[in-house]
Amino acid sequence: MSIEKKPEILSLTEDELAHLLVADGHKKFRAQQVFQWLHLKQVFDVRQMTNLKADFQDYLTEKFSFPDFKILNESKSPSDQTAKYLFAFGKKQVESVWLPYENRQSICISVQSGCSLDCSFCATGKIAFKGNLTAGEILTQVYGMQQLYDRRITNIVFMGMGEPFYNYDNAIRAASLIAHQHGMNISRRRITLSTSGVLPGIQRFIEEKQPYRLALSLHSVFADKRKRIMDIEEKYPFEDVLGYLREKRGEMQQGQLMFEYIMIDGINIFPDDAKELARWAKLLNAKVNLIPMNTEFNGMHRPSEEKIYEFWRALVERGVVAVNRKSPAKDIDGACGMLAGQKLAS
Ligand code: SAH
Ligand code: SF4
Repeated sequence: MSIEKKPEILSLTEDELAHLLVADGHKKFRAQQVFQWLHLKQVFDVRQMTNLKADFQDYLTEKFSFPDFKILNESKSPSDQTAKYLFAFGKKQVESVWLPYENRQSICISVQSGCSLDCSFCATGKIAFKGNLTAGEILTQVYGMQQLYDRRITNIVFMGMGEPFYNYDNAIRAASLIAHQHGMNISRRRITLSTSGVLPGIQRFIEEKQPYRLALSLHSVFADKRKRIMDIEEKYPFEDVLGYLREKRGEMQQGQLMFEYIMIDGINIFPDDAKELARWAKLLNAKVNLIPMNTEFNGMHRPSEEKIYEFWRALVERGVVAVNRKSPAKDIDGACGMLAGQKLAS
């Protein structure tokens, strides 16, 4: 006899929760109370949900599954307060990063354990792909890290392990739960989904008028070169993606789109690269986030400070808004994308 799987409580919207509670004869307002314990106060233990009666607490435990995770490892950077966490959800392990800045508190979270793509500069692509995270598992990284610190999280980037648009429903569901007014109530403009360029996902995102920011990982604006470093280029050429985004420009919010561009020495930071990147950025009105390749990896390395500066200047001189994002947490390989496998337990 198969045992029916319990609904994962953290993945449910307040309305879905209300629906299930009412169907079992409970009052609708209980849904908001439970939702706030989970998403606002980040309390996962029903016994600590003190405004709920014991028999209702029992019912919740019977009916739903609650977050079940372990933090297997924590590495803190001595130089910049950045910290990297290894979360385990059963066999699925993912990494998440705590990124404190002066005026904001960012975190970088994962949407898949490993990645089905294999970009040549990215450590995640080299480890075994273990599958999608549920919305609840994506959220558990946010709440799990928030529980460890007094500082309130203000910005969330889906730029850890995996491709958000290959786990579209769960990624978008997690984003909307993070932004929910009865939960953390994080501004939608401070939630960013990063994609390597999965065109159907981008189309859906735009058609659904999703309010989150969209980061497109370009890393090269020449098809041949991009193909050599990103396998997604074979399937969804960046020119198709940018052509589509150009068509839809009027339907996007000001500042919603940005480009991510890892600067890799001897590969994608020649004057021609800057010129072509600037052309696209202006055509699409996109800000460019420059990220120096953060460590030596797969025979590729970080350019000198001088070359980084030159590339940045070549964009800015052409009127592009370009930011050198630095690579935080260099000493713990904590920059998003370098969430590597070396500490993953087997
Ligand atoms: N799969 C999605 C989101 C996760 S990767 C994507 O590719 O956009 C998130 C970011 O980490 C991307 O912008 C990626 O380019 C960056 N990244 C990957 N490897 C890196 C490295 N070696 N150094 C710096 N950033 C890296
Ligand atoms: Fe996957 Fe993004 Fe890494 Fe490419 S850069 S392998 S898409 S996680």
